Amino acid sequence: MTVRYVSTRGGMAPASFSDILLEGLAPDGGLVVPETVPQIDAATLERWRPLAYPQLAVEVLSRFADDIPRDDLERLVLAAYTADRFVAPEIVPLTPLGETLTLVGLSEGPTLAFKDMAMQFLGQAMEYVLDRSGTTVNILGATSGDTGSAAEYALRGKRGIAVFMLSPTGRMSAFQRAQMYSLADENIHNIAIDGVFDDGQHLVKAISADLDFKREHRIGTVNSINFGRVSAQIVYYVWSWLRMTDALPAAERGAATIDVTVPSGNFGNILSGHLARTMGVPIRRLVLATNENNVLDEFFRTGVYRPRTGAETLETSSPSMDISKASNLERFVFDLLGRDPEALAAAWRDLDRDGVLDLSEHLPRFATEFGIVSGSSTHADRVAAIRAAHREQGVLIDPHTADGVTVAERLREPGAPMLVLETAKPAKFPDIIVEAVGAPAPIPAHLVGLLDAPQHVIELPADEAAVREVIRAHAVR
Ligand SMILES: *Cc1c(COP(=O)(O)O)cnc(C)c1O
Repeated sequence: MTVRYVSTRGGMAPASFSDILLEGLAPDGGLVVPETVPQIDAATLERWRPLAYPQLAVEVLSRFADDIPRDDLERLVLAAYTADRFVAPEIVPLTPLGETLTLVGLSEGPTLAFKDMAMQFLGQAMEYVLDRSGTTVNILGATSGDTGSAAEYALRGKRGIAVFMLSPTGRMSAFQRAQMYSLADENIHNIAIDGVFDDGQHLVKAISADLDFKREHRIGTVNSINFGRVSAQIVYYVWSWLRMTDALPAAERGAATIDVTVPSGNFGNILSGHLARTMGVPIRRLVLATNENNVLDEFFRTGVYRPRTGAETLETSSPSMDISKASNLERFVFDLLGRDPEALAAAWRDLDRDGVLDLSEHLPRFATEFGIVSGSSTHADRVAAIRAAHREQGVLIDPHTADGVTVAERLREPGAPMLVLETAKPAKFPDIIVEAVGAPAPIPAHLVGLLDAPQHVIELPADEAAVREVIRAHAVR
């Protein structure tokens, strides 16, 4: 059986996983989704129980990438999740945080943030698909720190791929700068823009809107709507349920469920949890946590989706969750509207016209049918959570994870195991760690030398012509 991918808005001929891997956005402006979500039953989950993380990832991804021959997929997945790229030998370690919570360690990868989990697979899969079709791609992106470095570490040295990543000069931490700019691979081009993150993003949009230039240089992106990323993130929800039920007697496992709290921005990570739950993984509730940019919390509490403008978006101490609209939400709304592309397209026309989408008639179903509840945190909450975890458990958590811990503590229910996804390591965010505990988190031993390594970066004004020139000069043909 082949999984066919279609658009949430109905305007795309069914395509295979390999076909959709380089995009995410369907030609009709919708997002690509599997026509039917693969199902896994209790017996299959038990069969997967003894598998190590990379082998489990092969099984889960083979349900989505079923046009890639099994042997090839296995090679790609095993190359993505190796001991030399991830600090923890189990790739995704589960650790108790006090009596009530369990942290799911998703930031053991090369850039110390959860985006590595998906990007490492995507890098392998993209190179494979390009190789097979004899084409190349030039990835153009703008980053404020996390996404860009995860993409660069996943795509460095890959055949047929070059990366042009715009970052704001002087707006990243010394560690983030060192992480990106120390890469010496020939296919990685760091471009420091004299401006802020929005200036970089604006340049990317302007260049991508020039369809002739885009076609000539085969410009692509690896943003969070990429379904290859979404599929790779499903694996750790399956893994988390398996590890949380390992200690139970076999007869009790089938009925055991977990609650998972997800620090959320673009709704990418939690969408993968929603898909895992749809596939049959016994997840009781998905708890969505936002920071002060609470557009998603507002949606899940009121049923009204009201994207913000850039100017309304606050700069917070959990910067990777500072979003004005949640680009993956359309995939959830597609399911909410019975996977009816016409209803979805009509809803998005309303959203484009009114700037707001009122789905409050469906509000009761959010929790009952989809198991999604939500909350948000403030800077003071995150500082308190970091301080408490440090003082009481001797564990340093990062501000995004602290956001999750805050909301998880508020919404957990007795008797139901509550997991919190750890989306980054504290060493990346020294300011709030100093504020909370008086000293920055230690730089992990294997990265201490990074700060002194030579840096490779092209400095440019926020000028479209200058960026185009760099792409022209270094694009892979
Ligand atoms: C990207 C990111 C998030 C938000 O994830 P989404 O998939 O956009 O919801 C949360 N925490 C960290 C550290 C991130 O890098």
